[in-house]
Amino acid sequence: MTVEQTRYVIIGASAACMSAATAIRESDSCGDITVLSMEQEMPYFRPMIPFLISGKKSEPEMSLIGNGPFKEPKIQIRTGTRVTSVDTDNKTVTVGNSDSISYDRLLIASGSNPFIPAEIKKMSAEGVYSLRTLGDAKKIAARSSKTRRAIMLGGGLLNLKTAFALLERGLKVSLVVYSGQVLSQLMEPDDAKLIHKALDRAGLEIITGCDIKKILTDKDGVKGVVLSNEKKVEGEMLLIGKGVSPNVGFLDKSNVSIDRGIVTDEYTAANIKDVYAAGDVALTIDSLTGKKNISGLWTNAVEMGRCAGFNMAGKQTRYCGVAGILNATQVADISFVSMGIVHTKGAGYETHIAETQKAFRKLVFSSDGKRLVGAVFIGDIERAGLYRYLILEKRNIEKIKKQIINHQLHYGHFLQ
Ligand SMILES: Cc1cc2nc3c(=O)[nH]c(=O)nc-3n(C[C@H](O)[C@H](O)[C@H](O)COP(=O)(O)OP(=O)(O)OC[C@H]3O[C@@H](n4cnc5c(N)ncnc54)[C@H](O)[C@@H]3O)c2cc1C
Repeated sequence: MTVEQTRYVIIGASAACMSAATAIRESDSCGDITVLSMEQEMPYFRPMIPFLISGKKSEPEMSLIGNGPFKEPKIQIRTGTRVTSVDTDNKTVTVGNSDSISYDRLLIASGSNPFIPAEIKKMSAEGVYSLRTLGDAKKIAARSSKTRRAIMLGGGLLNLKTAFALLERGLKVSLVVYSGQVLSQLMEPDDAKLIHKALDRAGLEIITGCDIKKILTDKDGVKGVVLSNEKKVEGEMLLIGKGVSPNVGFLDKSNVSIDRGIVTDEYTAANIKDVYAAGDVALTIDSLTGKKNISGLWTNAVEMGRCAGFNMAGKQTRYCGVAGILNATQVADISFVSMGIVHTKGAGYETHIAETQKAFRKLVFSSDGKRLVGAVFIGDIERAGLYRYLILEKRNIEKIKKQIINHQLHYGHFLQ
């Protein structure tokens, strides 16, 4: 079979898929690309869905159709099409009960699902949601219109974004966090003080050190929760944001190697010939820590998908892995960026902290002090890109360390 006739099948129609399809098209103008997505909607920009809840954006404004590969010919997108199994011996995927689609190269870009703790699953009631898809956002928006108070479980970034969407909609929001702080994956408790203040200013009620013990209901569904400290919190909607887990259930009977996510090599290939994986479903190596990692970020899914697309089309392209780098973003009225290694307690790193009323900067250096390995900037994220570059490139920074610590780093230092 010639390259021109290659049948590419992609499971998933989001970040990783989009960039993979673009890369395939750049390298192979003739192959057929079939995209399968279990969601009803055509591809859209997932990070924007909280804005559908706040009312700041409409569904058409989030659409990816007309962008990137989706305006190219010979790409077929089948929405509302759930893949139920993959047969790597016969190179087919099954959709629904029996419909079978053959592939020459397969990309699994099925992303992740919200993780719902087993005890919450058992208590499920009308008005309990997780936000992952546009479909979820529509349901939450509909319930919000007849709701005054919302309770949210989990202090991660996605939950905070959703909390703000609800606040903007005029709801009272209580956020229940098991650990003593919000954003515990992105920073240590002392680092998060300014963020907590900003959340207070915005009117978010944060309840730390607690879990949900019981969901209270009436005929309309949720009406509150009982916390693990026995206190009651009232609310007509409960949103669970306890992280995500890779969407791999449909691979149960396949030989694709799974370790939380799909195990991939440096060329984004799975353990079976002609099968690739990218995005939130793929397990990669964090190039800074050397640990296996699932990224959970749109930008990383795009990058990995692009490598996968090139590899599928025969253009060998190495994926250098994620580097614990997280996006700069805004919570309430405060910007922050957290990148690289930021949890340092007892780990032997050299750390430098500079703090004012409005800004916080933590720099983490390797134990020999020769490399910058992580940073948290809150309130003032100016020039964060320069620090990101030093972390990613693992540069020896001895000659410019003073400038880094004094926040005098500028582009000129990279010309030396
Ligand atoms: C509310 C929210 C806010 C976010 N904000 C940000 C942000 O600010 N910055 C950032 O970097 N990241 C953000 N993210 C994370 C980002 O959206 C994800 O990292 C990214 O979408 C991952 O892309 P992906 O292509 O791997 O998979 P996903 O976007 O998860 O898409 C998975 C695709 O697979 C399909 N699928 C799954 N299983 C099947 C099956 N069995 N059969 C057929 N199709 C299937 C789905 O229909 C979907 O099309 C946010 C996520 C959410 C939910």
